[in-house]
Amino acid sequence: MGRQFFVGGNFKMNGSVKTIKDIVSHLNSAKLDESVEVVIAPPALYLLLTREHLRQGIEVAAQNVFDKPNGAFTGEISVEQLKDSNITWTLLGHSERRVILQEDDAFVANKTKVALDGGLGVILCCGESLEQREANKTIDVVTSQLKAVADKCKDWSKIVIAYEPIWAIGTGKVATTEQAQEVHAAIRDWLKKEVSGEAAEKTRILYGGSVSEKNCKELAKQPDIDGFLVGGASLKPAFVDIINANQ
Ligand code: PEP
Repeated sequence: MGRQFFVGGNFKMNGSVKTIKDIVSHLNSAKLDESVEVVIAPPALYLLLTREHLRQGIEVAAQNVFDKPNGAFTGEISVEQLKDSNITWTLLGHSERRVILQEDDAFVANKTKVALDGGLGVILCCGESLEQREANKTIDVVTSQLKAVADKCKDWSKIVIAYEPIWAIGTGKVATTEQAQEVHAAIRDWLKKEVSGEAAEKTRILYGGSVSEKNCKELAKQPDIDGFLVGGASLKPAFVDIINANQ
């Protein structure tokens, strides 16, 4: 069986009650390719509102989760609290958190383990900076980010990997289809060697970085690209065209 195409929308720290309700109602009434798994990640403040208004069949993700169950951790949210609110996924390891908030590989791996143990699906982000790409370190950087997780998590059935080159995020500079496919194939190869043949075959690997309604169709044709994690364009009506990239 092929891998189910997956499209995630990362709203980042954008939106208001009004604009998020508008996006949700647009998605609710849109004709979406039924074979695609769709998950949207609004800011934490709007998770409940989104879940309440969004139609069944589209899941909601947090943009982050903490690795402790409860207690004196001001500003954080736990896996149990997400589940209590019917939030079934979380993003982890987004480059904006790795770079701006200095989350390291070990912390991301810990949070991934806690999220999976608690029953959430994890969209695990990885990707290199421009400097690392120019120094030919892309595969090393990406696989060491993933290895930190593989050291702690043996079951990858609820992990979706999002390969997001940092230089392509929010810049309008999309990786070429060849650049993206090359890294996706390398990640799949790495999964085969370091996790299992089954993980290599079944794990969805998304591309993220300035995906738009214009470039999504070509990217979607690549054999190892199983969907997208979309930032800026997930706030626009064109998100529907990206979800329907295979049509
Ligand atoms: C992202 O934030 O995950 C992302 C890919 O952003 P953008 O699509 O805006 O580049």
